Amino acid sequence: MQHQDKLFASAEDAACRIEALRREIEHHSYQYYALDAPEISDAAFDSLMRELREMEAAHPELIVPTSPTQRVGGYVGEQFASVAHEQRMYSLDNAMNLDELDEWIAGVHKALGHFPELCLELKIDGSSIALTYEQGNLVRAATRGDGVTGEDVTLNMRTVADVPLRLREHAFEGLVEPGAALELRGEVYMPKKSFDALNAAAERAGKQQFANPRNAAAGSVRQKDPMVTASRNLSTFMYAIADQRALKVRSQWELLEWLRRAGLHVNPDVTRAKTLEEVHEFCTKQIERRQDLPYEIDGVVVKVNSFTEQTVLGFTSRAPKWAIAFKFPPEEKTTVMHDITVQVGRTGVLTPVAELEPVVVAGSTVSRATLHNAEEVHRKDVRIGDTVIVRKAGDVIPEVLGPVLSLRPENALVWQPPTVCPSCGSPVVTDPEEVALRCVSIDCPAQAFERLRHWASRQAMDIEGMGNEIIRRLVELGRLNDVADYYSLTEDELAHLATNRSDGEGEPVKLGHTVAAKLVAALEASKGRSFARVLNGLGMRHVGKNTAVALARAYPSMEAIMDASEEQLARVEGVGDVVAHSIATFLRTPDNVSVIERLQRAGVNMAATQEDLGDGLPQTLSGLTFVLTGTLVESGMSRDQAAERLSALGAKVTNSVSKKTSYVIAGEAAGSKYDKAVKLGVPVLDEAQLLELLETGQPPVTEPATQADPQ
Ligand code: AMP
Repeated sequence: MQHQDKLFASAEDAACRIEALRREIEHHSYQYYALDAPEISDAAFDSLMRELREMEAAHPELIVPTSPTQRVGGYVGEQFASVAHEQRMYSLDNAMNLDELDEWIAGVHKALGHFPELCLELKIDGSSIALTYEQGNLVRAATRGDGVTGEDVTLNMRTVADVPLRLREHAFEGLVEPGAALELRGEVYMPKKSFDALNAAAERAGKQQFANPRNAAAGSVRQKDPMVTASRNLSTFMYAIADQRALKVRSQWELLEWLRRAGLHVNPDVTRAKTLEEVHEFCTKQIERRQDLPYEIDGVVVKVNSFTEQTVLGFTSRAPKWAIAFKFPPEEKTTVMHDITVQVGRTGVLTPVAELEPVVVAGSTVSRATLHNAEEVHRKDVRIGDTVIVRKAGDVIPEVLGPVLSLRPENALVWQPPTVCPSCGSPVVTDPEEVALRCVSIDCPAQAFERLRHWASRQAMDIEGMGNEIIRRLVELGRLNDVADYYSLTEDELAHLATNRSDGEGEPVKLGHTVAAKLVAALEASKGRSFARVLNGLGMRHVGKNTAVALARAYPSMEAIMDASEEQLARVEGVGDVVAHSIATFLRTPDNVSVIERLQRAGVNMAATQEDLGDGLPQTLSGLTFVLTGTLVESGMSRDQAAERLSALGAKVTNSVSKKTSYVIAGEAAGSKYDKAVKLGVPVLDEAQLLELLETGQPPVTEPATQADPQ
């Protein structure tokens, strides 16, 4: 240090040297990470970094946050701060095959009056990220979140080696207003190699592995300790800017060039296409190349190249109309099926599950796949020992398509459906109305575990922190037999609960008081949940979220439901004979009655709340008019139910779209009302936004779908 410092007589000299070193390091980082074209050896690069560190140690007053030595630092704390995106971060509509893609292109062609020039990019399977630069310096990084609000992950994104802490000077040439803030967008992802290394390390440490690189990337970005993120070897590809008007570029292609010149990591596999043939050629080529790339992709994003044309096409509430994601077809792989095991569900349904030699399908390792029911196993004629075809598309649950008969070993075993429950040994019952086999024992531990899990789950009582591992431990210890037992748990006993992890001496790590106190608080909070949640949480057969909501509206309390006859129950909207019978049977079973009584004594709410009834709610939507179109899929709500809930918040719901309509809610397969909304510039909300609105009582801020489709 002394030696270095002596070389620089004055503080100015030192400052000059430090700045020169920083520029040199930034240049070589760019060559290495963004261009994949290193000009110097790793050793020489390390030497430059070492000199900079030494100089900064001697002149700490010259350290700035954008120095390459300052990537890792700070601690996120308990929670990520939320960031309101100035411009919404959109999702993309999908084309599931080339025909759908052609249809979309034809629509754009019609709207613009000519075949558009298209910019084709790889669809990187990572997590959306927004990087904000002010005066060229990175000041903030945020996740997409729900598109309107994301999380501040600046400290973590600073550690990602290919994210420049300051932009290259070239960036300023392209700016409309040199000092303006720029929000650049792209994808942060985990290269396949880093993912494999991370999972191998997790396996060695006996920790849970990540399902796929996308989850691993999203999880790594949301670490409390930036040191952990730094160790995960994340990378980025940037491809967008929040406000195109900030730049002097006129097309997506030029934007990518500008981003590259500004120092950001831009994917090199892009092309422009002017014909359908060119589009098809690029897309099919990528399907073939997919395996060979060092990172995961799940499709090709096709964007209208010209910014002017993009503006003409505009946005829906969810996605741009000038871009579409062509999704790769589901992947199929072959692997050996070692066994068929039986899983016991919450209501006693027994599901055969294929136990597979682990195989990577569509980006994640699959070692188990559902076989649905015994009839399916028989119909598909899959036998233990067979080589089977496994199929998976994106997030969908993997399934076994069938056996490869030519590879069937001689000793392949025909699976016999169980005659007794694998968990409790009681005889299996075949329901004449269903294909499913069932265990009808009340004391079945596997069912008990599933029921306990369901009670604590997010859609039911939402007991934060009560995960599978803790529930399983408590069941093993005999402390949890039914859902009422939750409320007798004490902080002390939870604190002493052994986890799956062990310390240096091989002793199991205890849960500890901090976690235990949080669990007790979460249990306490769950006592005040709505009546519908309680009804859903009890896990009565055929009673899901929607039926529970309908019941909680129709009956003021548990007592009233218990007093109701089967016929009366069947008259509740959406209930019917079968469901009413199931509810009545459940509520006439003495064991269940005793659980309900114990829950009540523990203070769990057993009566309809304002949330259940919907009235007395703040009339935050009064003065607004809504029209519903299409089918609501995610929530399973009927349009009437949705209308009822909107009215409960003061909204007016009508049947036809006019200029006076405030919002149109478009479910799946929305029809002419949607088109009319677009024509009139009425904002359109999708189902996710509707649910958010019902939850918060506040309509989202939307840009009206101003650009009418030309006739
Ligand atoms: P999805 O999440 O399936 O609706 O797909 C939309 C997401 O794809 C966007 O929010 C981006 O995070 C991501 N994506 C990946 N690569 C690209 C790309 N080249 N252009 C635009 N979006 C992309």
